[in-house]
Amino acid sequence: MKRITVAVDGYSSCGKSTMAKTLARSVGYIYVDTGAMYRAIALYAIRTNLIKGNIVDKKGLIESLKNITVSFSQDGSTILNGENVEKDIRGLQVSQSVSYISAVPEVRSHLVSLQRQLGKNGGIVMDGRDIGTVVFPNAELKIFVTADAAVRATRRYDELKTKGQEADYNDILENIRQRDHLDETREVSPLRKAPDAILLDNSNLTKDEQNKWVMEKFVEVCQN
Ligand code: C5P
Repeated sequence: MKRITVAVDGYSSCGKSTMAKTLARSVGYIYVDTGAMYRAIALYAIRTNLIKGNIVDKKGLIESLKNITVSFSQDGSTILNGENVEKDIRGLQVSQSVSYISAVPEVRSHLVSLQRQLGKNGGIVMDGRDIGTVVFPNAELKIFVTADAAVRATRRYDELKTKGQEADYNDILENIRQRDHLDETREVSPLRKAPDAILLDNSNLTKDEQNKWVMEKFVEVCQN
């Protein structure tokens, strides 16, 4: 059977990664979390003082791109220059900086070429904001996920708490709203539903219902 490309885009913390990861595992595809790649660059920028508040030292960041390597370990953890940063990139500090970093065109083109390389043979499920519109505009299956912001904040809060990490519901909700706004209004590759993407509002779906839904779509596309 042909190994297709699946693009999963959508708003912050709407369960894209969970859905994409589960689908990839079930069908034996590679899974790539592109948000983690932007988060790793944001962490690098924070550590090297290339971002202060919402001000990015763009020249410094662009020059540093050649020194930044982002990859994934076997278990899917994010590796920044050889260090496992999976936990560090999920905290609020990185969440508050990442949309300023991801708005820099050179950061985007650097990561987009890496993402295209990872997906060049198909058999991949990639999630992000611009996968169906920019990275793989010819993806055979495109899904655009959304959910009510309060539902997303609650899920994120529960997820961080379960992992034993610090979490404040109001800070999370504020961050989700702010990232949605910044991601939708940036000049380069803003968050948009591709015209041929299937819209999924999962506010009232359980994970099992969502997984069943996406598997049905996957099978439909593969059979046609
Ligand atoms: O998916 P996640 O919430 O981890 O993504 C973090 C941030 O990375 C997003 O808010 C967005 O600014 C950026 N991003 C992006 N393009 C992608 C994936 C993520 O701009 N393909």
